[in-house]
Amino acid sequence: MDLLIRGARLLSGEHVDIGVEGGLIVSITPATAREHDESRPPRPRAAQRGPAGLREAEGGPAGLREAERGPAGLCEAERGRAGTRAAEPGRAGTRAAEPGRAGTRPAELGAARLREAKGAAPGVEIAADGLVAAPGLVDAHRHVWQAALRGIGPDMTLPDYLDAVLGRVLPTLKPDDLHRATLLGAGEALDAGITTVFDWSHATVDRECSDAILDAYQTAGIRAVVAYSGGDAAGALRFAGLRGRVTGALTTLGPEHGSWAAAVREIGLALDLGLIVSMHVGAGADSPLWRLREAGLLGPHVQVVHANQITAEGAEVLAGEGVHAVVTPVVEATMGHGASAYGRLMAAGLRPALGTDVVVNAPADLFEPMRSTLRQHRLGTGEMTPAASFLGAATEDAARAIGLAGVTGALAVGHRADLILLDGLADLADPAGALVTTGRPADVRVVIVDGRVVRQSFSVV
Ligand SMILES: [Zn+2]
Repeated sequence: MDLLIRGARLLSGEHVDIGVEGGLIVSITPATAREHDESRPPRPRAAQRGPAGLREAEGGPAGLREAERGPAGLCEAERGRAGTRAAEPGRAGTRAAEPGRAGTRPAELGAARLREAKGAAPGVEIAADGLVAAPGLVDAHRHVWQAALRGIGPDMTLPDYLDAVLGRVLPTLKPDDLHRATLLGAGEALDAGITTVFDWSHATVDRECSDAILDAYQTAGIRAVVAYSGGDAAGALRFAGLRGRVTGALTTLGPEHGSWAAAVREIGLALDLGLIVSMHVGAGADSPLWRLREAGLLGPHVQVVHANQITAEGAEVLAGEGVHAVVTPVVEATMGHGASAYGRLMAAGLRPALGTDVVVNAPADLFEPMRSTLRQHRLGTGEMTPAASFLGAATEDAARAIGLAGVTGALAVGHRADLILLDGLADLADPAGALVTTGRPADVRVVIVDGRVVRQSFSVV
């Protein structure tokens, strides 16, 4: 076993141990390692608990007993190594000198290093008592390179954005800039518990830029579907050949924003290569999108984003053709695209996915899109649709919409081990509903992608 997560609570309520091997979830069994005391009083949320030292004195949950174990999350067999690390020049002194931070572990010391622990199985053990284990969130639409522009356009409309961000900033970026920007964007996604991102990459226009971006994803540790924008067959073929944690897809401007001929050619490439092709659409009744249906080009290889103007009839056409739909409600409302199509798409039988889209004027996490969707849905229908039901749009349905159904988006045996451990939810009756209504990046304590710990923070102050 490469990784064992002990004593986590699932969103469905059970306390389990989760085994990971070769990057896959191989077992989910009732928790056995530590007795879970059902009679213990509810644990307060992190913000109310105060520093780790107080929790120690109170006999806090095992998952947070940093002082007993050395660096957070290290299992018994690994204490020796922690001591070794403390002796590394320039590291121990800095960490020891940070008040109240003793016991936290820098994020860069991930699973790969811990697995060097002597002969113990599992290679890495995480004591997750008091934490909830959830599928890693899946962002079905994000222009990751724009991370460096976060917050520059609070009042940008779509035309403003097209002019400033795509028209003026993007052409100035060199491959090195794109590499750094992608690392930054992947990092801020991971910080928010997003373990997979569909990168609608405006910047993958040639070999050099594509190399820089793909290389950044290898470093970043996130799962990514990188959508190629070059439009040429050779580049598309290369992206179709990507395997493992970073895979490929295609973009097309589509018939609303680009030429009909280019849309037909690029959708044809996706069909030939077995890739998803993604396009931005308004999808109103008079959209040229519908000509694609007449041409026999719609299908499960096509993913449409936004569709704010779609009618009930249009939504039924997409559902009938098996087209995937992604909505980005925060950006759509902020920039004036229109009301989210989520409800219309759902009514037609589609399972729309959520995306963050851009961070020039929207937060970098999926909690806000989930909440926005919940609010609009309840306001629009007057029905108290359970909050937990909106989580699928950022997990399983999102994985399906980006071509990764069965790979990620669910905490299940046989799926890749993409999961997050969250604080503040374990003692609640409806942790999934609470995650949708009150979740925030700060609640994400551990992020695991493909079986590797890529973020771990216990927020000691
Ligand atoms: Zn977009």
